[in-house]
Amino acid sequence: MFTVEQIPMPNLGLTGLAVNLSEEELAIQDVAHRFARDVMRPIGEQLDKMTPEQVAAPESPLWSFLQQLRDSGLIDLEAIAAMDNAQKARLVPIIFEELGWGDSGLTICALAGAFPAFAAYNTGNPELIERFGHLRGCWIGTQPDRGSDMVDYDKSEAVVGSRHNKPNLHARVEGNELIVNGQSSAWVSGAPIAECGLLNCPCDYDGNGIYREDGGLNSLVALVPFDLPGVSKGKALDKIGQRALPQGEIYFDEVRIPLDYVIADKELAYPSFYGALTFANMEMAATFTGVARAAFEHALDYVHERKQGGGLLIEHQSVRLRLFDLWRKVESSRAMSQRVFDYNYGPKGPHLLASLTSKTFVTQSCFEVCNDAMQLFGGNGLTREYPLEKLLRDARAALVEDGENTVLSLKGGSWLSHWYKANH
Ligand SMILES: Cc1cc2nc3c(=O)[nH]c(=O)nc-3n(C[C@H](O)[C@H](O)[C@H](O)COP(=O)(O)OP(=O)(O)OC[C@H]3O[C@@H](n4cnc5c(N)ncnc54)[C@H](O)[C@@H]3O)c2cc1C
Repeated sequence: MFTVEQIPMPNLGLTGLAVNLSEEELAIQDVAHRFARDVMRPIGEQLDKMTPEQVAAPESPLWSFLQQLRDSGLIDLEAIAAMDNAQKARLVPIIFEELGWGDSGLTICALAGAFPAFAAYNTGNPELIERFGHLRGCWIGTQPDRGSDMVDYDKSEAVVGSRHNKPNLHARVEGNELIVNGQSSAWVSGAPIAECGLLNCPCDYDGNGIYREDGGLNSLVALVPFDLPGVSKGKALDKIGQRALPQGEIYFDEVRIPLDYVIADKELAYPSFYGALTFANMEMAATFTGVARAAFEHALDYVHERKQGGGLLIEHQSVRLRLFDLWRKVESSRAMSQRVFDYNYGPKGPHLLASLTSKTFVTQSCFEVCNDAMQLFGGNGLTREYPLEKLLRDARAALVEDGENTVLSLKGGSWLSHWYKANH
C-alpha cells in the first residue's frame, strides 16, 4: 500500500499524469510545445478562415509553417529512421500530441506530406530515397467509388458474395512500365501542394483484369512523381474542419511510371496498405489526444474566468464534475495512444487492430470532449471569437478521416473473432 503522510496538491506535468519522461524527452516536448503554441496555433487560426484555394496558394501562410517545421527538425525522417523502436514508441506520440494541440489540420498536412518519403526510406533503396526522400507528398488510397471499400481491402465487411465497386483509378503493367488512368477521391490530404504520391490502386498485371476470384481487387503500391506527363489536380476541397489541410483530387491520364517505382505488388500490396494505415491510425490517436487536451485546457481556463449563478462557473459542483469528465477522457486517450505505440513498436506488433483501437477511441473521445467543452462555454462556444467551435469541427472530420470509425470498428470486431476462433 502507499503511505501518504499529508495530502499534497497533485503533481501534474504538461501532459497530465505522464511520468518518467527523460531529460531528453522533456526537452523535445518543450520544443514541440513552443512550436505548436507560437507557430501552429496562429497559422492554423489564420488558415481556418481562408478559402481552400487561398490555403493552397503560393502566398499562403501554410508555406511558412512547412518551412518552420523543417527548420525545427521535429519531423526529421532520417533521424526518426535512425531511432530504435523503443525511442520511436516514446518520442513520436509526445511530438504528435503537441503538434495536434497546436493544430490538427497542419499536423495531418505534415504527416500525409511525409508519407511517400517515409515509404521510400522504408524500402532502403538508395535510388528511391534519392528520388522521393525530399519531395512533399500525399497518400492516394481512396477513390470516388471506393472509400470504405479501400479501407476494407480484404472485404471482411462486404456483403457476402459481392464484388467491390469498379475502381475509378487503376493501373496496368506494360513491359517495364506501369500505366495509370483515372482519378483519386477529393479527400487526398495535401494533394493540392504535393509533388508526388504514395499510390495504392487496383492493377491489371497480365491482361486478365483487376478482379480476383473472391471479388476483391489485385492491387499495387507505387511512388509517383507528379511532374510526369498526364498528371493533373482538381479544385481544392471545401470542408467543415481541419481547413488548414488542403485536399483534392489527382487525375491520371495514361501516366507512365517505371516499374522500379512499385514498392509492393500482388500479394504484398495488401500488407503494405495495411502497414501504412496501421502507422497513420496510430499517429491520428496521438494527434487527437492533443486536440482533446487543447479543448480541456480552454474549458479549464474559461470556468475559472466566467461568472454566472452568483460565482465563477467552477464554483458550481456540476461544472467541476463536467470538467473532470473532460480530463478523464484526455488521460484515457493518452494512455490508449501510448499503449498502442508500445504494442506496434514492441515484439508482438505492429497490427492494425491495435491502431484502429486507439484511433476510433481517441477520435470519438476527442469529439465528445470538444462538444462538452463547447457546452461549458455557453453561447460563446458557438462563436468564432472563441476556440471551441474550430476544435469541434477539426475533431468531427477525424471521425471519418483515415478510415470511417464504424468501418474500422467492424474490422476490429472481425479480428477479435478470428483471434478467438484460432485460440479455442
Ligand atoms: C479529413 C480527411 C482526410 C482524409 N485523407 C485522406 C488521404 O490522405 N488519402 C485518402 O486516400 N483518403 C483520405 N480520406 C478519405 C477517407 O479515408 C474516407 O473518407 C473514408 O475511408 C470513408 O470513405 P467515404 O467517405 O467514401 O465514405 P463511405 O465509404 O461511402 O461510407 C459512408 C457510410 O457507409 C458506411 N459503410 C461503408 N461501408 C460499410 C460496410 N462495409 N459495412 C457497414 N457500413 C459501411 C460507413 O460507416 C459510413 O457511415 C480522408 C478523409 C477525411 C475526412
